[in-house]
Amino acid sequence: MNRRENIESCIDLKRCDFVPIALHNFLVCAELMKIPYGEIFTDGKLIAGSQLKAYEIFDNDILMVEVGIATLAEACGCTVEYPDREAPWIKKPVLEKISDVRYLKVPDMTKAGHVPEMLKAIKILKKEIGDEVYINGRGDQGPFSLAAELLGMNNFLMALAEEKNEEDIKMLMDYTRKVHLKYAIELAKAGSDFTSMGESLAGPDVVSPLIYRKYAFPFEKEHIERLNKRGIKIASHICGNVDSIIEDFINTGANIIEIDEKTNFEEAKKLSAGRCCILGVVSPRLLKMGSPEEVEKETIKTINIGKEGYNFILGAGCAIPGDTPIENIKRMVDTGRELGKY
Ligand SMILES: [Zn+2]
Repeated sequence: MNRRENIESCIDLKRCDFVPIALHNFLVCAELMKIPYGEIFTDGKLIAGSQLKAYEIFDNDILMVEVGIATLAEACGCTVEYPDREAPWIKKPVLEKISDVRYLKVPDMTKAGHVPEMLKAIKILKKEIGDEVYINGRGDQGPFSLAAELLGMNNFLMALAEEKNEEDIKMLMDYTRKVHLKYAIELAKAGSDFTSMGESLAGPDVVSPLIYRKYAFPFEKEHIERLNKRGIKIASHICGNVDSIIEDFINTGANIIEIDEKTNFEEAKKLSAGRCCILGVVSPRLLKMGSPEEVEKETIKTINIGKEGYNFILGAGCAIPGDTPIENIKRMVDTGRELGKY
């Protein structure tokens, strides 16, 4: 089994030779370039170049390619700012009120915002190293989180609280689902091996499990089914403690769930057996603030729980901050390589 076959086996919940390692490191990649992040995140060649630079250092099996949480929001008409040393952020949502949802049009994903630059980056990476490793063209935000971004978080939470908005919210979620689908299709065409969706705003740290089950879960489940039918595999990301929705999270049918250290990993691992792969769960905070020895200890603990039964990809629980010591990331990768062999 070569490296790519091993990763495929892992995602397909089959026997593999080693635990694949994925790095959620787009900020670290940008930091390595020693130019403002904003310049990199708006240029496909530089996005690819930054990922390649990091790959030379870390030799990770899966490259998680993205520029944060604002790519689709921008494509849908939100105003996005690209700071020098942070991920892009949404300065102005596209919707003033939920009822404006009916005026939204699904953008042309070959032209909208900086989407063409992301597609360019994926194509370059696929060509350069796509025979060796997996290119994870991240699908940015999932239906619920993107809906929250398009309306602005406060307005969205207020809209959710009122029964009368149910129809409009569902219309918005249907729109965001279509946007994500179009993006995922273009990413796959560009050479992405699987995609992702960030749904942290649907997690228990932000909304109640009741809201998650009413609005996020049904759309996610249906959406993932459609993607899988098209042969597109997907990782779903919810950081924070997801213990109260873990069963639903797995039931969405996501091929991979991405969780962080706040969730009960042992329990999640037990529940996911034969159902989905888990990516995580080393704390990004520990990677940034801890000593290499602490990182090693945490990685050993993680891999000892994760390795059992194969369906596990070692990585950080969320995006690794740009100013994280390289030595710490290397220590996680080296420890994972050593202990990750079956
Ligand atoms: Zn996260």
